[in-house]
Amino acid sequence: MQSQAAAAVTVTGLVKRYGGKTAVNGLDLTVPSGGVTAVLGPNGAGKTTTIETCEGYRRADAGTVRVLGLDPGLPAEAARLRPRIGVMLQSGGVYPGARALEMLRHTATLHAHPLDVDSLAARLGLDSCGRTAYRRLSGGQQQRLALAMAVVGRPELVFLDEPTAGLDPHARHATWDLVRDLRADGVTVVLTTHHMDEAEQLADRVAIVDGGRVIAEGSPEQLCRSDADGTVRFRARPGLDLGALLKALPDGTAAAEATPGSYLVEGAVDPQLLATLTSWCAQSGVMAEQLAVGRRTLEDVFLELTGRDLRA
Ligand code: ATP
Repeated sequence: MQSQAAAAVTVTGLVKRYGGKTAVNGLDLTVPSGGVTAVLGPNGAGKTTTIETCEGYRRADAGTVRVLGLDPGLPAEAARLRPRIGVMLQSGGVYPGARALEMLRHTATLHAHPLDVDSLAARLGLDSCGRTAYRRLSGGQQQRLALAMAVVGRPELVFLDEPTAGLDPHARHATWDLVRDLRADGVTVVLTTHHMDEAEQLADRVAIVDGGRVIAEGSPEQLCRSDADGTVRFRARPGLDLGALLKALPDGTAAAEATPGSYLVEGAVDPQLLATLTSWCAQSGVMAEQLAVGRRTLEDVFLELTGRDLRA
């Protein structure tokens, strides 16, 4: 277990209410120093509220929050914290008429040892739109500028709230590369994402939040580990009789319809199990498509822990 001293962020018993609604309900989270921690959770789980409380943008109703050993809820400590952390704002705090590169240069001047603005802009594909007013940037360009502004001051700790939401594949990979470089430089990165592959690619640790609490945490490998030896995934018509399928398969095998028409079989996956599965499909008139043998993914774990219902 990480000691308190080694933690970049420690959240204990955090509660945050909006009117009668409890958004965060006794949340505990420890982010070790260095590495990437991904905070995952369904819509409305309380991720942004938690992150914004750590950034000092929201007041906790109860519980304690320490970021780099400081309390972001106390103005004097927040002022000491601000130069040491990077925050990726979704949109607020930017004058819409300001030009992209001017804003980035201005942010850089607020820090003692900023990154080189031109090379940062180039690697995030912002060099060609450097003279464009913020309000005329595309959504993806605004997103990349927000990321650049969060990291240009070489923070010790950076909070990225859905950094790749709405980005095209090129920008997504450029963002991932930047996060990997931050990690290699010893920066602690806390990111929220709805992309399970992003968490699998980047995160050393994952915390899954639901109902305003952390319901699971660990490395992606720890979370995906299961007693099962493997998985078989396939697509077929929705609503297969999984009870009948399980009767055909060896004891200890599990089967679920992860999303309509998308099936996951877990167990001691060997050639015999595959043969039994495909022969059951043949006998039942089921065309199994995209059949793939593999291991449990973070998405499987996420859906298992948080259920499959859409959140309001
Ligand atoms: P998402 O993945 O959809 O961004 P989230 O996990 O980040 O969700 P939060 O934005 O923290 O969730 O919201 C948690 C709950 O608090 C939601 O039910 C949301 O509607 C509510 N909430 C958030 N901000 C406010 C606010 N300023 N006023 C009232 N309710 C709010």
